[in-house]
Amino acid sequence: MKTYDLAIVGSGMGGSMIASLNKQKDVIVFEKDTNLGGCASTFKRFGNYYNSGATTLVGYEENHPLKKIFDKANVNLDLKKSDIAIRILQNGKTIDRVKDFEKFLSQIDKAYPNKNNRVFWQIIKQLDEKFWKLKNVYYSKYSLSSYIKTIKSVSEIFLTFKFDLFKTARGFIKDTLGDISKEYQDFIDSQLLITLQTTSKDISLLSLALGLAYPFHDVFYVNGGMGSIFDELLKEVETHNKEEVKSIIKQNDIYLLKTRKGEYKAKNVILNSTIYDSSKLFEDEKIKSYYNKFSFNDQSAFVIHMTINKKENLLHHYQIILENEIPNALSNSYFVSLSSIDDNKMSENGISITISTHTKARFWSNLNKDEYKRQKFITEEFIINSFLENFDNISKEDIQISFSGTAKTFNRFINRDNCGGKAITLNTLLQIPSCRTPFEGLYNVGDTVFAGQGWPGIALGVHVLKEELNG
Ligand SMILES: Cc1cc2nc3c(=O)[nH]c(=O)nc-3n(C[C@H](O)[C@H](O)[C@H](O)COP(=O)(O)OP(=O)(O)OC[C@H]3O[C@@H](n4cnc5c(N)ncnc54)[C@H](O)[C@@H]3O)c2cc1C
Repeated sequence: MKTYDLAIVGSGMGGSMIASLNKQKDVIVFEKDTNLGGCASTFKRFGNYYNSGATTLVGYEENHPLKKIFDKANVNLDLKKSDIAIRILQNGKTIDRVKDFEKFLSQIDKAYPNKNNRVFWQIIKQLDEKFWKLKNVYYSKYSLSSYIKTIKSVSEIFLTFKFDLFKTARGFIKDTLGDISKEYQDFIDSQLLITLQTTSKDISLLSLALGLAYPFHDVFYVNGGMGSIFDELLKEVETHNKEEVKSIIKQNDIYLLKTRKGEYKAKNVILNSTIYDSSKLFEDEKIKSYYNKFSFNDQSAFVIHMTINKKENLLHHYQIILENEIPNALSNSYFVSLSSIDDNKMSENGISITISTHTKARFWSNLNKDEYKRQKFITEEFIINSFLENFDNISKEDIQISFSGTAKTFNRFINRDNCGGKAITLNTLLQIPSCRTPFEGLYNVGDTVFAGQGWPGIALGVHVLKEELNG
């Protein structure tokens, strides 16, 4: 039996990016699903294409870890810049998150007048810019030397940000903007939920800046669906989709991976499964207990997919913030992404829409079949009605197809009911799992290990992992 240099379990953002950087090695990628890309895949149902979760691409800009990876892998992208990153609709107000600072500020001043808006948003923008300019960010916890290296890297961050690093987000909001209205607070928190999976309640100023500043970057729509990026990243890589890895056995200095179709040997294994789902792959008690010590982050997504019979050019992204919570959701907002009318694949039969909101994972897995159906219907109907109220030019009759997915759906297709990494809060700063494990040749990648979710966060983690693999 051949021994691979690297076996990668999963073709999500993390698995595919690290595979693309190791093409010169003997690499094999396993993917359980038919489609590549995990939470960022594009799938076909009822003759139409839909993005399963991720719809925005941020970080494709000079000197950004993501662009470095895509350039190295020679990824051919068909991107369209979204001039308005997100249009936020809240209680009759419209706020466009645009890259141009002055334009954005004039909208914020109109929606939420505050004499310190400029200072607040300028600090947010500057901290974010400083962070993405940092070099040598490193995070690992498997040995004394890795801790020392991490602390050195943190000291670089400390020297750059000084005591701002330890300021709480809520404290900073209060010190700068004073007591703000519930509406303004909701506006801030709803955006943080998208980027960080948490609100300003328990994060640091630095996380607040990273979470709020993404629309100050170029934000891209991916023609042909987000999933098309994975075909590019994995070109020339041996990829086995529809082949789930069922178990991994550590045999001295190699790993034996078992699937229903066969057995494979590899010197190194990178798991793109979540940190919470990794223990079940092993029998080795030490490895099992390593993974079991990470407490489950009970957060997931509720998604609705629709095809609407329209050929109108709408924006790519909207966020709707309501006054009250959505049934069975963790928030009062939802994110709407629409395909471009000139995207021949995604909009072939009408506009393809993905709507998502936050929900608990365990809530859905604990329901019996009938109750599951009933609760799913309640959430879906509520969001669709609210969507129709917010888009005057779309009527119920325009909806050709609609269906929804919960944490259970994510579990069925991509083995995860948790969606989104654990937010880096002041309390969890040193509890975030690192990509390197205490076991020689065994690594993790993706949004449940450092540095977190989405293209920018996972790309940063992939850079650290690449360094680890190079020794
Ligand atoms: C609704 C939603 C909207 C989002 N929107 C955005 C956005 O607009 N922009 C953005 O940047 N990010 C967004 N995110 C976050 C982003 O999608 C995720 O952080 C990212 O896709 C996770 O990537 P990952 O590398 O952790 O892998 P995953 O996406 O978790 O993929 C892991 C892969 O591994 C496979 N796998 C698992 N176990 C096995 C096994 N045993 N054998 C074989 N294969 C296995 C799975 O099938 C899966 O394909 C969104 C997330 C959600 C849920």
